[in-house]
Formats: sequence, structure tokens, C-alpha cells
Amino acid sequence: QADARESLYLVSEYANEYFQKILHKTDQGKAIGLSYFKERGFTEDTIEKFQLGYSLDEWQAFTDDALSKGYKLDFLEQTGLTIVKESKRFDRFKGRVMFPIHSMSGRILGFGGRILTNDKKAAKYLNSPESEIYHKSKVLYGLYFAKQTIAKEDNCYLVEGYTDVIQFYQTGVKNVVSSSGTALTSEQIRLINRLTNNITVLFDGDAAGIRASIRGIDLILEQGMNVKVCTFPDGEDPDSFAKSNTLEELTTYLNENAKDFIQFKASLLVKEAKNDPIKKAETIREIVNSIAKIPDAIKREIYVQECASIMDISENVLFSTLAQISKKEF
Ligand code: ATP
Ligand code: MN
Ligand code: MN
Ligand code: MN
Repeated sequence: QADARESLYLVSEYANEYFQKILHKTDQGKAIGLSYFKERGFTEDTIEKFQLGYSLDEWQAFTDDALSKGYKLDFLEQTGLTIVKESKRFDRFKGRVMFPIHSMSGRILGFGGRILTNDKKAAKYLNSPESEIYHKSKVLYGLYFAKQTIAKEDNCYLVEGYTDVIQFYQTGVKNVVSSSGTALTSEQIRLINRLTNNITVLFDGDAAGIRASIRGIDLILEQGMNVKVCTFPDGEDPDSFAKSNTLEELTTYLNENAKDFIQFKASLLVKEAKNDPIKKAETIREIVNSIAKIPDAIKREIYVQECASIMDISENVLFSTLAQISKKEF
């Protein structure tokens, strides 16, 4: 069992070396992959640091290479690097730029691959499947590079995607990780909680994304962490914003725009409910649901007071709703 896992690590690490070699040493890699990363504003140092790569736009270039080096097809298939269909073999990441996903200790667990064409039918990002070494729900992209700065700064920025992590890091904000498209899990939050009690969640500048992400944040409150949130101007995400701003502009923006999560949620809900009493009632239950997740009774009390004022209702109503919800949950 341990030997099988080690074989999957070795295959993944070989693939990681291979994709980097293709990016830097082949005509196709340089013309397509490397120039793509350069256009996104990534420097040579950044590309090397994050070990970015490129997978040739051929059906089985990587698979053939790995087999010729003695790596077993079974392990190539288990890591998802090779897709086996009937007797045919395909490179999963054909024609994509590659983002290796590191464990806390720097081993390669899997990959994200981004398509470079505008093909609307193909997924923009493709990820390695779950395997004996890659459990998506327990991994945060970028944590290997960010862990020391998270502890030092006593705060962790949480972003949506690979490129957000990389652009922030390059700009100089290094305490940044991503759940890479999947919904945030308690296990991922626990990884951060070992290093700091503070999370700042950064949303892409689209309203739909914000509404969807808000639910996952209750999981952070449950672990007793302090949560702030920050949005970006319309159409921007952390990547594009960091790309077009200096470190000082970026940190100023983050410091000025990060808001306490409960206050942010209360204000957002109030705006949505407007003068509709039924919506407002739902809204109150929703905000109290979040407050109920906070383990610390003193913090709960302070939030009740603040939300009562934001939502223009009495503290008593909030307290009694909180008591009802707490009875159901515990
Ligand atoms: P880019 O700037 O390269 O277009 P992004 O990171 O801004 O990418 P988003 O659309 O904001 O992309 O998505 C955030 C994250 O969600 C991505 O980084 C990726 O991890 C994941 N993701 C996006 N699209 C897909 C997809 N089609 N399949 C799987 N995961 C995806
Ligand atoms: Mn998005
Ligand atoms: Mn984005
Ligand atoms: Mn983006």
C-alpha cells in the first residue's frame, strides 16, 4: 500500500519535471505555453517557483515518454495523467498549461491544466481526479508556498483560482491559498487554522459568485476563526487586480476594503430584502444562522448588537431567534 502510494508520487513528480521541460525547452512549449504565461504577466522566477509547465498538443506524447522511461501504465492511469480507453491511451492534459498541486511538504499530488483556446465546449480548467495521493477536499493550492507567511502575518487570503494565488504571490502578498474551484471544506479550513485564526476571503467581482461563496463561510465561523471578506471592482478578480497594481496599491486596497463577514452579510441581505417584510424575516433567520455558528458566546452577543443596528430591528428579536436555532442544533 505504502509502496503503491510512493509509485504515484514518483509518477507525478516525473510528470512535473516533464511538463516544465516541455514548457522551457521545446518550440511548441515556448511559443504557446511560455508566451501564454508571459502574457498573463508571470515572470521567469514565478514560473519556476510554481513549477508551471505545458503539456504538448498531442494525443499521447507524455504517456509514451513516461512508458519509455519505465513508469507503469497502471500508475499513470491511477494518477489520471493517462486516460485508458479500450486499448488506446490519451494524455489527460493535452495542449494545456500546467499548474502542479503541492502537498504541505512539497510533493506533487496532482495538476490543474488550463486550456488555451476559446473552445466553449471544453472545460477551461481540468484537474487530476481523486487518487490514493490526491484528496481534493484536503488540499489547498498554494499552501506549500504560503504557510510561513500565513503564520508570520497571522492572516490567510483565500482566493478562487490558481492564477489569483500566483499573481498575488508575485506582487508580494504571499499569504494566499485557493480551494481551486471546489467548495471549501472543513478539512481545508483546519489546515489554515493550524497557522492562523484569521481568514480574508477574496471574491471575484461577480455578484453570482459572491452569493454562492457565502454559504461556505459558515464553515469557517464554526471553527471559531475571524472572517473578513473583500470584493473587487466589477469584472476584476484578485489576479487581474494584482496584475495592474503595485504591492502598495494592493495592500492599501485590501486593508481599506476588507470587511467583517457578518457585517458584510447583514448589509448585503438588508439591501436584497429592501422593504419586503417577508424577505426581511428570512434575512434575519439567515444572518442569525451564521451568528449561531460562532463558538464564542461573547462574540455572538457583539454580533447580535451590530446586526440589530445594521438591519434596523431589535436585539431581542435576534436573541430569541438565536435561542431557537441553537436549541435545534445542539
Ligand atoms: P483564468 O483567469 O485563467 O480565466 P480564473 O482562476 O479566474 O481563471 P474562474 O473562472 O474565476 O477562473 O474560476 C476559479 C477557479 O475555478 C479556477 O482557477 C479553477 O480552479 C476552477 N475552475 C474554473 N473553471 C473550471 C472548469 N470548467 N472546470 C473545473 N474547474 C474550473
Ligand atoms: Mn470566478
Ligand atoms: Mn477568476
Ligand atoms: Mn482570472
